[in-house]
Formats: sequence, C-alpha cells, structure tokens
Amino acid sequence: MATIDLIETAPPVDTGIVEKDGPPAAQAGGTLTIDLGALAANWQALRRRATPSECAAVVKANAYGLGIEPVAHTLAKEGCKTFFVADLSEARRARAAAPEAAIFVLSGVMPGSGPEFSVLRAKPVIGSTVELAEWDAYCAASGWRGGAALHVDTGMNRLGVSINEAAALAPRIRAENHGIHLLMSHFACAEEAGNALNEKQIKLFREVRLLYRGIPSSLANSSGIFLGDAAHCDVVRPGVALYGVNPTPDKPNPMRPVVDLKVRVLQVRGVTRGETVGYGGAWTARRATRIAVIAAGYADGIFRSAGSSDEMPGGVAIVADKRCPFAGRISMDLTAIDVSELPDGAVRRGDMVTLIGDGLTLDDVGRGASTIGYEVLTSLGRRYHRVYRRD
Ligand SMILES: *Cc1c(COP(=O)(O)O)cnc(C)c1O
Repeated sequence: MATIDLIETAPPVDTGIVEKDGPPAAQAGGTLTIDLGALAANWQALRRRATPSECAAVVKANAYGLGIEPVAHTLAKEGCKTFFVADLSEARRARAAAPEAAIFVLSGVMPGSGPEFSVLRAKPVIGSTVELAEWDAYCAASGWRGGAALHVDTGMNRLGVSINEAAALAPRIRAENHGIHLLMSHFACAEEAGNALNEKQIKLFREVRLLYRGIPSSLANSSGIFLGDAAHCDVVRPGVALYGVNPTPDKPNPMRPVVDLKVRVLQVRGVTRGETVGYGGAWTARRATRIAVIAAGYADGIFRSAGSSDEMPGGVAIVADKRCPFAGRISMDLTAIDVSELPDGAVRRGDMVTLIGDGLTLDDVGRGASTIGYEVLTSLGRRYHRVYRRD
C-alpha cells in the first residue's frame, strides 16, 4: 500500500491568526489576508440554502488562489465531505488536508494515471466514452473500486459524454454496479438567472437522471444554487461564492468577503500639469497632481487591463478611506495612483492602500480590469505576505 506525503496543515486554532505564508510582512510589498471564518460562514450559508442536498466545495486552482490546504482543512472541519479539484497534484494536496473526504478530479483520468487515483483515493470525473473504457480497463486490471463520476454534457460543450451516449451507457452502468458514484453536469450561464439555457440544462439533466436512478447527481455551481431547488439535485458544487464573489450578479452579494489585500506606498510624488505618468506616456496630468506609487504590479495580479489612459479610466484603490483612480499603465512591480483628491499629507511613504476589501469587492476589482472576480482570485500574487485568520 503506497503512502502519501502529508502536508502540514493549519493547527486547530479557532481564533486569531492560524497560519502565515510568503515573505514576512515587513519585507513584502503587500499583505493578503484570508478570513477563514468568513469562508466557513459562506460554506454554511450555501449548505443551508441547498439543504437537503449535500454541499461540496470546489477547491481547484489552489482553492481559487487562496490555498488548498487551509481552505480544505477549514471546510472539512465545518463538515464538508466532498471536494472537487482540477488535477491529481491538487488532489494530493486536498487529500492531505481532508483525509476522510471524497475527492473528485474534474479533468478526469489520463492513460497511465490510474494508480495515482488509487493511492490518493481520488475519483476521476469521466468526460468521454474513451475515458470511461480506459478507466474500466484500469479497474478490471487493478481491482481498484474507488469509484468515479460520469460527466454528462447538457449544453456547455466542453467536457462530458453526450445525452445520447449517457442514455446508451445507462443500462450497463446500472446493471454492473459499475462504480459510478456521481452523475454530473455543469451550467453554462447560471449567473444569468433569466437565461433560457438554464431551464434547458435542468430539463435535459432530469431526463438523464431518470436513467441513472440510485446514483447521486450534481448540477449546480455557486450561481446554480441560487436558481432554485430544481437545480440542486443531490450534491451542489460551489466554488467562487465560498471565496466571496457574488453568485447573483444582478442582486446584492449574499456572501461575506474573504479576501483583503493591502499594498505599501513606496513613494508620493508631484507631477506638473501636462506631464505623463508611466510607460507609453498614456496618462497625462490635467492639473498639478500627486501620485502614490505602490509596491505591486501585474506580476502580483494587478491586471494590466486595469491601467488607465487619457481615453480610458481603469481600476481604483482605497487610499486614506477614499477611492482613488490608477494613473497610467500598470508596471510589472508598481502601480501609480492619483491621490490628488486627498488632503495634503493624507498619504505618506509606508502607508498601506487597499486593493481588495473595505467595500472594494472582488467583483468591483474584476470590473475595473474588464474581467471577473474568478480571475482576480486566481491571479492573486505570490509575493505578498499571507495571513490566514479566523475570528
Ligand atoms: C469550477 C467548477 C465549479 C465551481 O464553479 P463556481 O462558479 O466557481 O461555483 C463547479 N463545477 C465544475 C464542473 C467546475 O468546473
């Protein structure tokens, strides 16, 4: 029996700072604080909303950038029994943090990777008939009976067997006690409550589920949980809402913020009217201007598309309690902020400005960079001092 390397996980402390990561605060350009209490509260809120369905958690992409180990460990302690990851390296980390949980691998199984599923007690999400045949062959040869999920495509056209394939497979899978532990599909437009594709996917999936009676089913991502009971099935699979992004974009955010990002001011300087700031001289001072230069840039996940020019506004930061706009292009390690609206002396070298938090949401930041909260999360830099707190 092979063993897995156990990664050290957060100590069982329920208050205050539970873990730190990255460089020390004094040496880092910024501090990223992850509120594990808010994460836990978000999972509980989604669980209540989905009851009696089981609430799983999607922790792919390093738990959307926040750290698989502390996130999975926290949610397992809350009672989460099922985790979804993207690949086997993430499954290894999730397994260390949640030794008893069911772990599904969304990218499925590749030829030769079967044994690693056995070692980790992970279950592939099977998305094609070819893959199913390969998995069957591995299970027959090895005697492994750890189970898998079958992903049925109902309109996303990404991964998953077709409805017709699912129908054709159903009698055999039901008759042979085949080790399919979960029947799964995925919404394409769940965040648009009025999109007709949602109803269509719910209806198609209902028809498939009837053919797989007795096997638990799962359809809803974060936004899907808010589409009502018909979308819940047996297991819901929230990801982004756990981390504080609004799963209902046309309504107030029901989730608590989890992420706070503060970055240090390296310098405050004056720029005379008519001068430009930053690469390309894309932003011109229209008056005597004060610029705060902060210690994070696109290498830290400040999107280059959040830069501003004379034609286009960009993102904002909260400086001394006021939203101030980015001035000019984002550099690799630096961002300039126009702080002219602040009183003299309100911001100084060494002060921290807020890039996420204090009411500046992941959704706001995504909009400011022409992207979405998901990408803001998964792009969060690795140079920050990281604090995991729970209070
Ligand atoms: C990423 C993912 C989820 C979670 O989606 P969110 O929108 O982040 O809640 C659920 N199911 C599948 C198949 C996914 O790929």
